[in-house]
Amino acid sequence: MRRISVFGATGSIGQSTLDLIGRAPEEYHLVALTGGRNIALLAEQARQHRPEIAVTADPDRLTDLRDALAGSGIKAAAGEGALVEAATRPADWVMSAIVGAAGLAPGLRALEQGATLALANKESMVAAGRLMLQTAEMHGGRILPVDSEHSAVFQALIGENIASVERVIITASGGAFRDWPLEQLADATPEQAATHPNWDMGQRITIDSASMFNKALELIETREFFGISPEKIETVVHPESLIHALVGFSDGALMAHVGPPDMRHAIGFALHWPERRALPVERLDLTAIGALSFRAACDQRYPALRLAREVMQEGGLSGAVFNAAKEQALDGFLARQIGFMDMAGVVEDVLTEISARPGHIHAEFTLDNVNRLDHLARDTARGAIKRLKARKH
Ligand code: NDP
Ligand code: MG
Repeated sequence: MRRISVFGATGSIGQSTLDLIGRAPEEYHLVALTGGRNIALLAEQARQHRPEIAVTADPDRLTDLRDALAGSGIKAAAGEGALVEAATRPADWVMSAIVGAAGLAPGLRALEQGATLALANKESMVAAGRLMLQTAEMHGGRILPVDSEHSAVFQALIGENIASVERVIITASGGAFRDWPLEQLADATPEQAATHPNWDMGQRITIDSASMFNKALELIETREFFGISPEKIETVVHPESLIHALVGFSDGALMAHVGPPDMRHAIGFALHWPERRALPVERLDLTAIGALSFRAACDQRYPALRLAREVMQEGGLSGAVFNAAKEQALDGFLARQIGFMDMAGVVEDVLTEISARPGHIHAEFTLDNVNRLDHLARDTARGAIKRLKARKH
């Protein structure tokens, strides 16, 4: 039986992962399931899938989790340390689907055990891609992409020589506001930003789709994952969200990956790789779809894309700064401290401020330095948010 752990089990990706695993329970032994605040769902998942341990990230909810699991024989634990400890339990395949930089430590620990890490948590690749890849290599672990665009690129590259790749194009839906007039974006609310035209995802990534910070992270993720130089990585708005990515080769051919917007495809691909197995996803009816369309992603509407290019140019630890500043700016937007279009301004201020201080961005690439810069970026972002608020009042 394959030993499986799911980090972020109570989230959108976590639930889709358990949906697939639950269809063939005889094939899997569940090691660890983790969640955050949703104890009722975590306990329900644990009772159904019978992991060795269920962990909540929130130490204040340990008693609730224990009570909810009473009599089940399933161990309960809580807190950041317990999450990392759960990742040391031997597993063959580990889903990394915590949202945000909190996914980095457990992901690294799973790779240190030699596990195959199915990576939905793009933030860890953006903040510490080099560390993730080095850790995998050193301990015989492997990282498989779960982000739909990167799964698509991975699939288009099977049997190909990476040296003949001329360009990689990742598509973007354009998010909730793709058809809004530019001047209205400043007044967009968190509720408006948290609806997605095509995909059903967690709240944070849905808002990141509207601002294109999600695509910005994905550009950097592409660079880190496949080692492709930034000038070969493009993005294009594709409102139908049916083509997830295209890879262009030196003979001019473009290989596109086409599929319905259902994350169970990319999750299932990573689960069964290197085999392909039948998956419960919709089969596309091309004549019903009729046409696919594309338009340019303009930097004025989506300043996050320009910032991502600057981060790739700068290199070093700037990905960790970018991701942390973005997470803090999103918190500020959710708390209604700043407007929708202010998020990019905050992130830009943080990047400018921290890269001006010598020695930070180009310090040695260690986990300690990634964490240090993550904290510094969040502090700096909080300062920028305060200044912005003061200016508006
Ligand atoms: P959700 O918000 O739906 O779920 C996030 C999960 O992480 C939940 O289990 C949540 O627990 C848990 N969590 C939240 N904060 C913490 C924390 N500080 N420490 C530990 N666990 C925490 O997110 P998604 O499933 O949408 O996204 C998960 C990851 O996958 C993200 O990195 C996202 O970018 C990526 N991704 C998602 C896609 C999608 O379609 N949803 C597509 C491609 C990538 P709880 O809910 O119990 O509080
Ligand atoms: Mg994606």
